[in-house]
Amino acid sequence: MNIREWAAYAVDAVAAWQANWGDYQPHPSLAVDPDALARGLAELSERLTGNYPFFHPRYAGQMIKPPHPVAVVGYLAAMLINPNNHALDGGPPTAVMEREAVDALARMLGFEVHLGHLTSSGTIANLEALFVARETHPGRAIAIGADSHYTHARMSHLLGVPTRSVPADARGRMDLDALAELLAGGEVGTVVATLGTTSLGAIDPLDAILPLARSHGARVHVDAAYGGFYALLAGAGPDGLDPAPWRALAECDSVAIDPHKHGLQPYGCGAVLFRDPAVGRFYRHDSPYTYFTSGELHLGEISLECSRAGAAAAALWLTQRLLPLTVDGLGAVLAANLRAARAWARRIETTGALTLYQPPQLDIVTCYPTLDRPAMTAIDAASAAILHAGMSEADPVFLSTLRATRAALRQRHPSVIDDAASARILRSALMKPESETWVTWLHDRVAGLAAQARAGALPRPRP
Ligand SMILES: *Cc1c(COP(=O)(O)O)cnc(C)c1O
Repeated sequence: MNIREWAAYAVDAVAAWQANWGDYQPHPSLAVDPDALARGLAELSERLTGNYPFFHPRYAGQMIKPPHPVAVVGYLAAMLINPNNHALDGGPPTAVMEREAVDALARMLGFEVHLGHLTSSGTIANLEALFVARETHPGRAIAIGADSHYTHARMSHLLGVPTRSVPADARGRMDLDALAELLAGGEVGTVVATLGTTSLGAIDPLDAILPLARSHGARVHVDAAYGGFYALLAGAGPDGLDPAPWRALAECDSVAIDPHKHGLQPYGCGAVLFRDPAVGRFYRHDSPYTYFTSGELHLGEISLECSRAGAAAAALWLTQRLLPLTVDGLGAVLAANLRAARAWARRIETTGALTLYQPPQLDIVTCYPTLDRPAMTAIDAASAAILHAGMSEADPVFLSTLRATRAALRQRHPSVIDDAASARILRSALMKPESETWVTWLHDRVAGLAAQARAGALPRPRP
């Protein structure tokens, strides 16, 4: 797709609409000198080269990649108008697009009815879900998995709701026995399950968590900020995922999902959906402004945020037109990620230089260099040395590290020598379908660095 051509289309289309409203003179105070602009833009472009190459398959580190070009041109077209989706009269067309795009998310999750909207981020989506949980279960605690995103503890603190941490099992999933014991204590009003943890891409056993929580009258919120779109691949053949946890989504009370993670969108696009539309009552507020276009609840009345980019809704809406939420649409992108992660994990297991930390449940691969004496301090130092050498050598590879606790590491690898409280290991989020054709390169490159680390041939990075 030629982004230059379609960006020009978007600019022209908006200019054509603007031309209908009659000529006017832009104010001279807004004029800029083209030479100064050229210099400023040259400096900006130069500064931006300081980024890691998130777009390239050699970048296999954090959860970052550019948006799909379709999202970029959709965003651009709407941004030139700059509608504000906090209220219907801030931009009626993008407000309708937001409804349609969120309806599509709800269908994907299996919600028959819902109340939902886009947010600036997964953090805000989770905040809204926890806010509603506080209102429906006042005075009761929120149970969060030990491997859940740190936002839950932070936002619960903000909301003044106590949290209880549920230990993780040997695959980074919420431990069911520990949850059962906690629920039996009667303090917990809400359980937060995660489908796709940020660290490992672990899938909590939602199909077991849900009935357990219900039997204690607890609410269930699902943080699917990272993994939610993988619902498309639940039960989808050999490339697919065990459908059981994903099918349980339809019965949960709320879900947070980030189109800016796996929905091909630029940052500024999260979403929260509630299964019971009646929770809209908790948002009621008296705005000093008059909303004059609609009698029904509109977006500004069902979200905690005020201004939000209508352009984010336009970008998501257009992306869903071209890459629909189906197995063959966005699902084909995600299936390639899964195949890449599985193929790399197999390679790690069948060759010696790296040790697989745990089998990937989604698209995140975790491993550490195989050492003659696998002490935690040595694993930590070698992983850090590989991360740094990978970025700085010719033919670079970009990874990230994950801090594994002593207990987590020894749970999976009892032979590891326990001489520190934690150790960094290597972690790669394979979010781009192109990674699939780079698995051999990625593996050989990282295994080569691991062999060097084992031989003590890599420079020690400064701590
Ligand atoms: C990224 C992430 C979040 C936070 O979302 P932001 O969009 O970064 O605010 C919350 N939970 C999980 C599981 C995530 O991966």
